[in-house]
Amino acid sequence: MSRQISSLLAIAAVCVTLAPAPAFAQAPKKAPVDCEQVKCIALTFDDGPGQYAGTLLDTLKKYDAKATFFLEGQYVKSRPAFVKRMVAEGHEVGNHSYSHPDFTKAEAGTIRNEIKKTQDAVKKAAGVEPKLLRPPYGLADLQVADVATEFGMPMILWTAGSEDWSSKNVDAIKKKTMEVAQPNGIILMHDWVKQTVDAMPALVKSLQKKGYHLVTVSDIVKGQDLQPGDIFPVPAGWEK
Ligand SMILES: [Zn+2]
Repeated sequence: MSRQISSLLAIAAVCVTLAPAPAFAQAPKKAPVDCEQVKCIALTFDDGPGQYAGTLLDTLKKYDAKATFFLEGQYVKSRPAFVKRMVAEGHEVGNHSYSHPDFTKAEAGTIRNEIKKTQDAVKKAAGVEPKLLRPPYGLADLQVADVATEFGMPMILWTAGSEDWSSKNVDAIKKKTMEVAQPNGIILMHDWVKQTVDAMPALVKSLQKKGYHLVTVSDIVKGQDLQPGDIFPVPAGWEK
């Protein structure tokens, strides 16, 4: 190599080193959605991460939609990469026990252990700890509320279900979800139901066409001032 060329290369190397980082290195920062100003809805997926979670995450990403995943610790342990991806892509992860027992029939120690093991599994998989609890089957009593309080977590139920686990039919899941959709609604779905994941592209498009912003549960309940051990929405007959 001639001396001239090598010195040119040296200058080029310096220029590359001094060049500012390209603009695309920074993700564009978007203003948070204010659900008191715009129409919001939270789709929630229980019992996962299910085997179809990757396809679901692809759909949510494509349509710039956020969701909340109430995770079962045993599947967090077997599918940690999905959990990591959920958090990285801006979705919310909640605690749905480790092995799905009915908390209202369990001892306090069992409930505590179920919640703790799932908190630990999510932390290990994605570096964060869930802030919301959805008790299995949506069943809670005062003992469950007390244990949730120990973990600093409110309990989140749903305003309506997609009935996906019983219909297992793409058209029925779309129809039911559109029927029960309401502003600030929290919809129960399952990412282990293949038909739910298959229905999602059309469903997300329909909801967005109706003006809904698909947000996390925390976005929806921001104005509720929920305290640890509180339950939302408050089920009929619940007294504290
Ligand atoms: Zn469940």
